Order: sequence, then C-alpha cells, then structure tokens
Amino acid sequence: MPVRFILGVRALSTFHFMLQLITILNRCHHFPGFVYRRARFSSDGKSIEIEVSPRVGSKARCSGCHQPAPGYDRLAERRFEFIPFWGFLVFLLYSMRRVDCPRCQAVVVEEVPWGDGKRTLTRAYMLFLARWARRLSWKEVAENFRTSWDKVFDAVEHVVTYGLEHRSLGPLDAIGVDEIQYAKGHKISHAGLPDRPRRHPSALGGQRADHRIVSGILHSYRRRTGFEICFVCSDMWEPYLKVIREKCSEALHILDRFHIVAKMNKAVDEVRAGESRRMAREGYQPLLKKSRWLLLKRGENLKTEQRFRLRDLLRYNLKTVRAYLLKEAFQQLWDYNSPAWAAKFLDQWCRQVMRSRIEPMKKIARSMREHRELILNYFRAQKLFSSGVVEGLNNKAKVTMRRSYGFRTFRVLELALYHSLGKLPEPESPHKFF
Ligand SMILES: [Zn+2]
Repeated sequence: MPVRFILGVRALSTFHFMLQLITILNRCHHFPGFVYRRARFSSDGKSIEIEVSPRVGSKARCSGCHQPAPGYDRLAERRFEFIPFWGFLVFLLYSMRRVDCPRCQAVVVEEVPWGDGKRTLTRAYMLFLARWARRLSWKEVAENFRTSWDKVFDAVEHVVTYGLEHRSLGPLDAIGVDEIQYAKGHKISHAGLPDRPRRHPSALGGQRADHRIVSGILHSYRRRTGFEICFVCSDMWEPYLKVIREKCSEALHILDRFHIVAKMNKAVDEVRAGESRRMAREGYQPLLKKSRWLLLKRGENLKTEQRFRLRDLLRYNLKTVRAYLLKEAFQQLWDYNSPAWAAKFLDQWCRQVMRSRIEPMKKIARSMREHRELILNYFRAQKLFSSGVVEGLNNKAKVTMRRSYGFRTFRVLELALYHSLGKLPEPESPHKFF
C-alpha cells in the first residue's frame, strides 16, 4: 500500500511539472495558430517531448508564398530540437501539414514559425547556440549542449544568413588581414613575426602565396556575398597594402594599433640590444642588462621592483632611454578622438623622432609618415564602429580561427568571421532565453 501511494505522488508531481512546462512555453515561445498539447518524458527519461498541434480552425501557411492555403494532408511527425532544460533535451513534436496552394499551384509543405523547412533545430535554439558559439568554440558548444558540431554550424549559418539579409547597408564589414589560419598549418598571411619572409629569401614563394590567399579571400567574400568590403584592418606590410589597394579600393583601410605598437616595441628593443652590446664592448657598466621587459611592458604592468629599476635606468642619457621615452610619448596618440588632433600629434611626434638620431625609431617615423592617412583612418573609423572593434580585431580574428579549429573551407571561415566580427543583426526572438 505505501509503495503505491508514493508512485501516485510522483506521477502527480510529474503531471504538474509538465503542465507548468507548457505554461512556461506559452509565456516564452508562443505562436498564434499553434498550441502545446502535452509534455512528457521520453521513454529513456533523458528528454522532454512536447506535442504541438494546429489551433482548431487555423489555416496552414504555404512555405512558398507565406499565405494561408487550403490543407492537403499531413506528414509524419517531426522532432524540432528546442533549448535544453535543466539537463533534459527538449523536443517539439509536430506533424507538418501540406497545403494545396492555388498561388504556387502545387502541394507545398506548410511554414512553421518556430523552425525552418530544412533544419531540425528550432529557431530559438539556433539563436541560443549561435550566441554561445561567439563565446566558446563550436566544438565546446556542441559538447556542452549535447548536440553535434554540424548542428552548431547550422545554427551559426542560420543566424549569419539572417544577419546578412537584414543588415542595414553601411560600412559594416570588417576583415582583419592577419595571421588567420584557415586550415591547419596554412597561414593566410604574416604579421610582424620574427620569421617574416623578408629575412628568408628562400621563403619568398610562401610570401607570394600568402599574398594570393589574401586576395582570394577578398574575392571570395565579394563573390559569395555580393557586397563590398567596407573596412579592412591590416599591418604595414607592403604586400597587404598593395592587395587591399587593388582589390578593395573603396574600403576604409585601417592600420591597426596592435601592429603599430608591436613595431614600436621592436624598434626600442633593437636600440637596446645594439647599445647594450656597444657598452659591453667598451667596458661600461652593464646598465641595460635584463632591462628588456622593463622597456617593453606598459608602465602600469610593471611590478614595484621593476618600476624602481626602470626609474633608475631613465636617469641615464642613453639612446635606449630616449627611444623608450619616444615610444611612451607616442601612446598618447590613441587617446585622441578627433582625426585632426591625432594628425597634429602624429606629425609632431614624427618631427621629433627624425631629429633623434636613433635610426630604428627614425625608420618607424618614416613609415608612419608614408602611411599617415591609413593610421588616421583608425580615428575616422571610430566614428563608424563601436570602440574595441578595430583594436580587438586581430586578436579576435586569431581567436576565431583558433576556436574554429578543424575548419577546412572558406565557407566556415566566412561564417566564423562574420559571426564574431560582423556585428550583424540577429533574428528576433519572442523571449530572451538567457
Ligand atoms: Zn503558396
């Protein structure tokens, strides 16, 4: 007798829980013309299945012309995967109707508001997965939500396709021409790396190939999507500059901050290494010994002890110190909002450096003068793009590629880049699920 009593309570509570689930669904995922009938656990207890049926008297809509049309027949029940709930997979079960559409003059399957014709995921779930796919690798998303990589791909594709179709025309496209790896061991391009092909004439073939791949990507973007690239971010490597000038002449081309700073650090380091060697040769006190990171790190990132050492070092009239101070002074550039003031500062800085008689720094100043307009585009672009996009672009592109480990096609590369960088509009959702 007691056993029976317990079973009865459990069955009753499950019943209540399922009823409440339908109440919740009606709140967050309700579509006129359809009703949630019944919710139950699957036979293995691992998922929740919710039956959906058309509301009595509501007509099916033709998926061809999106208009109501007379019914024809019903297909076998389909399972639409919904957002998992407390560790249970959730499926909506629905038998699609077919309509005999007078406008399309054909028997066509109906359109359902929660999904699209081809995919087994509901739109809400696709949006959910796609949002997570911005934060985690696609593989991790698949594992975390107990779905497959292909379904995450589908979800991202759905959201990106929507975004491309619904975005307002304007300078929205961003491509970072950097170390983007689209297949294992196959770099699209280099950026400020020590193994820069210039140093290895034997690698020149690779250099040209990289250049061609950048060009191929730009071309592929345009061909597949049918719109122009409005915004390109790259480093100062001449082959990029050239291919970007040629292939997307209308694009706003920005030299990104990350690379400029990296170049500057390299120059300071060169000065330090040269001077350190000279001092050792001439028998001076090894002042510059172990000073490398003191000079390269941002001041605020130094530990107290390092800060004291840096302060001591700055008292000496060394080339290295002057190069360091020039580099530090240059940081002020990024604080400007107005391109005009940034330009004034940049010109002044370059003049000062040209008088410094420090060759590696002068080389940078010359290159800055040569690409002045592209550097100033950074400031012009901030009027158009939310802050952080330009700055984070290269890192983000890298992150995107690393996360999308295992991708092999341009399609996936495109989706991943658009998804994480494109700032595309998202499909509307009747409810915020997280
Ligand atoms: Zn139709």
